[in-house]
Amino acid sequence: MSKHRRWVYRFDQLASVEKRCETWDEVKGLLGGKGANLADMTRLGLPVPPGFVVTTAACRAYLAAGALPDDVWDQALEALAELESATGKRFGDPVNPLLVSCRSGAKFSMPGMMDTVLNIGLNDDTAAALARLTGDERFAWDAYRRLVQMFGRVVMGVADEPFEAVLRDARKRRGTTNDSDLPAADLREITRQFRALVRREAGREFPLDPQLQLREATEAVFRSWRGKRAQDYRRAAGIADDLGTAVNIVAMVFGNLGAGSATGVATTRNVSTGEAQLEGDYLRNAQGEDVVAGTREVLPIAELARDLPAAHAELVRIAQLLERHHRDVQDIEFTIERNKLWMLQTRDAKRTARAAVRIAVELTRERRITRREALARVTPEHVDFFLHPQLDPAAVKAARAEGRLLATGLNVSPGAAVGELAFDADRAEQWAVARRDVVMIRAETKPDDVHGMLAARGVITSRGGRTSHAALVARQFGKPAVVGILAMEVDGEARTAQVKRGAATTTLREGDWVSLDGTTGEVFLGKLPTVQPSLDDPFLRELLAWADEVRQLGVWANADYPRDAVRARELGAEGIGLCRTEHMFFETERLPLVQKLILATTAAERADMLARLLPMQRADFDGLFRAMDGLPVTIRLIDPPLHEFLPRHDEVSREVTVLETRLQLHDGDPAQLERELAGKRSLLGAISALREENPMLGLRGVRLGIHMPELVKMQVRAIFEAACACKRDGVRVRPKIMIPLIAHNNELRVEQTLLDEVAREVMAAAGQRIDYEFGTMIEIPRAALTADQIAEYAEFFSFGTNDLTQTTFGISRDDAETGFLTEYLQNGILSDNPFATLDERGVGHLMQIAVDLGRTTRPDLEIGICGEHGGDPRSIDLCHRLGLDYVSCSPFRIPVARLAAAHATLAHGKRAARRPAGHPRRPGRDH
Ligand code: PEP
Ligand code: MG
Repeated sequence: MSKHRRWVYRFDQLASVEKRCETWDEVKGLLGGKGANLADMTRLGLPVPPGFVVTTAACRAYLAAGALPDDVWDQALEALAELESATGKRFGDPVNPLLVSCRSGAKFSMPGMMDTVLNIGLNDDTAAALARLTGDERFAWDAYRRLVQMFGRVVMGVADEPFEAVLRDARKRRGTTNDSDLPAADLREITRQFRALVRREAGREFPLDPQLQLREATEAVFRSWRGKRAQDYRRAAGIADDLGTAVNIVAMVFGNLGAGSATGVATTRNVSTGEAQLEGDYLRNAQGEDVVAGTREVLPIAELARDLPAAHAELVRIAQLLERHHRDVQDIEFTIERNKLWMLQTRDAKRTARAAVRIAVELTRERRITRREALARVTPEHVDFFLHPQLDPAAVKAARAEGRLLATGLNVSPGAAVGELAFDADRAEQWAVARRDVVMIRAETKPDDVHGMLAARGVITSRGGRTSHAALVARQFGKPAVVGILAMEVDGEARTAQVKRGAATTTLREGDWVSLDGTTGEVFLGKLPTVQPSLDDPFLRELLAWADEVRQLGVWANADYPRDAVRARELGAEGIGLCRTEHMFFETERLPLVQKLILATTAAERADMLARLLPMQRADFDGLFRAMDGLPVTIRLIDPPLHEFLPRHDEVSREVTVLETRLQLHDGDPAQLERELAGKRSLLGAISALREENPMLGLRGVRLGIHMPELVKMQVRAIFEAACACKRDGVRVRPKIMIPLIAHNNELRVEQTLLDEVAREVMAAAGQRIDYEFGTMIEIPRAALTADQIAEYAEFFSFGTNDLTQTTFGISRDDAETGFLTEYLQNGILSDNPFATLDERGVGHLMQIAVDLGRTTRPDLEIGICGEHGGDPRSIDLCHRLGLDYVSCSPFRIPVARLAAAHATLAHGKRAARRPAGHPRRPGRDH
């Protein structure tokens, strides 16, 4: 680096910064977000108080050296001198003093995590001058006491409480609860006491030299980058530790100079609902921190139009200009000093999911952004919001106004939860069993706590980040959760939690009601009403229609019943990618038939049960075909291990023991007991015979179909009888028959011969021709590795990535997620849960091989995915890149998948056009 390295830029020197940086992102990296935007507003000719930025590079240099490099301070002093000429005031001048603020501002906003000192430059002389200049002695001493307090706390490390005690005493003496009732004389005395307090607590005097004040404040703000609060926040929010913060040194403007003055915050649109109108709050005659401190009642911005009409009109004009300039909703801070408006900050506004969708759509309609930009600005998480109950926005606003916002932590698992606090998992479970609504609260959770989390409506932890045990488990089970609440300390022994709220502390006890919002990370005291946001939101519908125009991947649904199929179509599904036929077998009137079928000892008995099941299955498929009306319906033949349909071995074994004991003790009619015992023993024998050490790797999937051909034949007969009946009624049908868990092409050959025969038979009997396809799931590595051979029989592939993940990793999908997988994620052995997000390197590689080999044999091979990953945005991105035709997911994930698929096209571009997904190729199969 050159000797003349530049550490300081005035707000009106943005051009020099831009010369040094390639992108706006780099400008923000150097000046911090706040500094960059203040400089930008200055360039736009907006009323920004003059000021300058000491860069993040200076912060890094200071932190590395442990001292402020001389040239940093020299350049700051130079800029200060220029500030003096710009304002016509002088720093420390006993006649016309300049006062400045010293504000932190990193590249990424870290709200409230670092420090700021206001009113720098005040001492006994300049305070007296300020009183003379403003004609307001009270104001001058109030500003001075605020400086001593803020400087004492931030720079000299004095706790806030003793300052507050002094103020409390003063208020008491005056018989008031409001600081603004304290007269100038009291404030002068308070300032004196504050200085004595600093001397006592910090062991040195509050510095009266303004330059020393500024230098020490700058260094303290730099140091606050390393403060515990800031570090914890960064770790949780994934912000790099080595960025440093900039310091903005800005000429003070005062919102507390009487009736013509005010200070406030606003957003250019409503960030809860998205409505296009300026929203915000302001305080008359107040200084910035009063608005956010929540200690005084704020007024809605609309009132400013009556109060200070000229300033209001200017604010509206500037708000619109800023929104147009940034092409996005802005969050602004302003101060009005004696009717003159000053802009103190602008940044892209944080917003709720509902607002994000509406704002994106309306900005597009207003031609501010393109449809593609609108799509890019809405995240899958925003769409996910519409699927979970939420706290009622009106109630949230009221709760905030009433000071019931308890704390904010990390928003790790979306949705709202309202319940009574339980401080351990057992208590949470007991209360849930007793039908009480519970929110489990812990310092952090461990595997022993999972039962409590499952029982609770929501989870709060004071510690931990986005990949803490609590966050992972909550997301996995869809429990709303807020973790990492820095202001909270949970004492599991005492069953209390202490929450710091400004200077006060609130104690939470077991049984207290709280309402948490896992979407925003907020926790409120008391019981707030919830609402279910509607997927029918017209803005969401419009946005998703745009997504459909962009995306290339089809979006299908995993649906087993006609009612799911109807829902899926309403949500935009273009087909059924997986109907798990065995789910229908679990219904109450069917399970006994299925059990008898499995336990049958003669062919006749088996045929009888199948004959009774056939009409039921036929009705299932009939309903699906009618609901989908011509869209593809992929029906997977029976898959699970048979033991899943039978009672558990240990239960039946226990029943046998009980019966044996009762018989010995003559407890009941012996003949009856003998009969029951014989029945149970035979059941136990059959269950034992079917018992497998590794049932998920045992007799299931295609193996079961080959082992029990009558069963799959019955299923195929039901499919074709239903299809023929539908066709007769004028309903279009597109059945796709899918074979699960194959490892070898010979398995498919055997099945295909068998099933084609049944299909032909049924069609001939009905005198109908049904276009159908025959395909397979790819769920085992060998199937992927031999996909060229498999494609000789299969006309379509569907990746069953639940099993493919299980078989590729060799870890049990049923046990791992509640077991060691959490440890793996916490230790960083795995960065993502492979059952939630596709493992690109391993499973993704096998998929790539299968796609390539499969299409070598059959270039028009249709390929989809129907594992859980089909609804996961990052996995959908991979599916797009792998060249799949569609993703299939549970109906409620469909809106998310439609957007994620559009994002994938936006990110990677379109793939070469191929045959449209689901188009039948073997009409009638009458070859
Ligand atoms: C899969 O394995 O990904 C799949 C969809 O099948 P199932 O979950 O029913 O085993
Ligand atoms: Mg499977």
